[in-house]
Amino acid sequence: MLGETTADDGTDEPNHTQTAAGELADAVRTTLGPSGLDKMVVGENGTVIVTNDGSKIIEWMDITHPVGRLVEQAAAAQDSAVGDGATTVVVLIGALLEEAATLRSDGLHPTTIIDGYGRAAETAIDHLAQYERSLQSRHDDRLAQIAKTAVTGRWDDASTERFGELALTALQAVEFDTSRLTLKSYPGGELRESACHDGVVVDLKTSSTSLDTLSHPGTQTHAEPAIAMVDAEIGIEEPSHIESVTLQDTTQRSELQAHEQDRRTELVAQVVQSGATVLFCQKPIDEAVRTALVQRGVLPVERTRRDEFDVIARATGSTPVLSVDELTADTTGTVASVTQRTVGTSQTLTLQGCPEEQRATLLLRGGTPHVADEVRRIAADCIDVTRVTLDDGAFVPGGGAVPTALAMDLAALSSGIPDRTQLVFDGFGTALEALPRTLATNAGTDPLNTLATIQQRHDSGSETVGVGPDGHPQDMIAAGVLEPATVFTSALQRAVAVVTQILRVDDIVRTSPDKRGTDSEHDHSHAATGGYPWAVGH
Ligand code: ADP
Ligand code: MG
Repeated sequence: MLGETTADDGTDEPNHTQTAAGELADAVRTTLGPSGLDKMVVGENGTVIVTNDGSKIIEWMDITHPVGRLVEQAAAAQDSAVGDGATTVVVLIGALLEEAATLRSDGLHPTTIIDGYGRAAETAIDHLAQYERSLQSRHDDRLAQIAKTAVTGRWDDASTERFGELALTALQAVEFDTSRLTLKSYPGGELRESACHDGVVVDLKTSSTSLDTLSHPGTQTHAEPAIAMVDAEIGIEEPSHIESVTLQDTTQRSELQAHEQDRRTELVAQVVQSGATVLFCQKPIDEAVRTALVQRGVLPVERTRRDEFDVIARATGSTPVLSVDELTADTTGTVASVTQRTVGTSQTLTLQGCPEEQRATLLLRGGTPHVADEVRRIAADCIDVTRVTLDDGAFVPGGGAVPTALAMDLAALSSGIPDRTQLVFDGFGTALEALPRTLATNAGTDPLNTLATIQQRHDSGSETVGVGPDGHPQDMIAAGVLEPATVFTSALQRAVAVVTQILRVDDIVRTSPDKRGTDSEHDHSHAATGGYPWAVGH
C-alpha cells in the first residue's frame, strides 16, 4: 500500500511525496472501467455531483498537496489531449510509485529506478505496435465501438451506445472536420431525443430575441430565405454631439416623434427592399422596428452571439453590414431553410443547408442542467477519441489486454538484462498489470486469478484477451472493447514523466508566505476546460 510507503533508510517515516500521489490513485482507482463505481463530489456550497469520470473527479477535488497537483495536471493534460485515459494515468502513477517504493527498500537508488523506468517505457511503447490494428476507413464500424469504449461506465449501456452513434453521425456530417461542428446541450427532455442536425442552430434565448411578437408559435419553416446581417445596433441613432435637447413646445415634440417614425419606416423599408426573410443583428434592434419587421414578414434576430454571428455569415455567404442603409440584395446570403423550433424551454432557429460551408449541430438533451452538462462532456469525449483514432489510424484491444501483453514482453526481456535494471523492468511490468488487476477488482472478480488466466491465454497465442465487462477474461476484439493506441501510449508517457519528477524530489521546500500567495495558489480554479475549440455552442 502506498500509504504505508517508508523511506529507504528503513525508518517508519512515510515518504510524504509518494503518499500524496498514492492516496489520489486510491481515490480514483475504484472508478476505472465499465464496472467502476461513481463518486459523489460535494462542492463547497453543498452542490452534489455524481460522476464516474476520473478526470472530472480529480479536477473537482480540492488538491492542495504539491505532488497531488502534479498528478492532477497530468490527468487534466491527458483528458484535454485525447479525451480519455485520465484515470489510467493516475492508476499507473500510483502503481509505478508503489513499485518504486519496493525497489528503494531493496536498496536501489532513485536514479537507477528513473533510468530503468524510462527504458522500460520506451521498450513498452516500441512493443505496442505489434498489438495495433488498422482502421479500414473512416466508415469503419469499429469507430463506434471505440467511441463507446471511451465512455463506458459513464452512463447505462444503451445510452453509451447511443453516444457512440451520435458522435459518429455528427463527425460524418462534417466529414470529420470538427471546426464545422457545434455541440449544444439543453436541459429538459431525454437523451434519446438528442440528434444531429444539418446546419447551424441559433439559440434565441442567448440571442434574447423576443419572439412573442411573432404571430406563429410552434414550428415554422421558411424555405430558401434571404439572410441579412447587421453588425451594429438597429434603431434611432442618438446624436452623439448634443448632450441634451430641450423641447420648447409640443410642436417640437411631435416633429421629433415624426422624424423618429420616419427613420423607423426608412429602416424597415431598407430591410424589406433587400429581400431579407431573416435579419440577424449582432446588437439590439429597436422594439418598434422589430414589430414592424415582423409585420412585413421579416424575422428579426437581435443580439446574436458574436461567434454564432460569424459562423452564420460564413455559412450563408451573407456580408454583414455596419448600417441598415448599406443593406442590399447583394449583401444577403441564403440557406435551404430556416426553421423555428422549441427545444426544451429554449426557442431555436435552425439554418439548414448552408451553401458556403457544410455545418452540423449536435443537439443533446438531458433532464437537468447537470445531466445536460454531463451529456455534453460524454459526447465531446466520444468525438475527441474518434478523432484521435482517425488521426492515428490505429486501435488496440482494451480491458487491460495491452498492458498485460506488454508486461509479459518486459518480463521476457528483463531476464537478459545483467544489472539491477532487471528488477526495475520487472517492477514496471507489475505496475502495468495494475490496470487489468484494477479492472477485475472493480468488476468483483479475483484480480490475481483473472490476471493469471489472461496471461495463460496470451501465452497460448490469444493476445487480445483482457478483462471483460463482467470481470472475466474475454477476447476484447470480439467483445468490441477497442481503444485508440494513443490513449494508452500517452497515458503511459505522462505517468512515467510525473513519476520521474516525483522520484527526483526528496523534499518539498515551500517558498515564503508572501510568495506562496502568488505562486502556489494560482491556477487552482481550473478555469474553463469545458470549452472546445470547435464548439460554438455552450
Ligand atoms: P479512463 O479515465 O482511464 O478512461 P475508464 O473508467 O474509462 O478510465 O476506464 C478505462 C479502462 O476500462 C480501459 O482500460 C478500457 O479498456 C476499459 N474498458 C472500457 N470499456 C470496457 C468494457 N466494456 N469491458 C472491459 N473493459 C473496458
Ligand atoms: Mg475512459
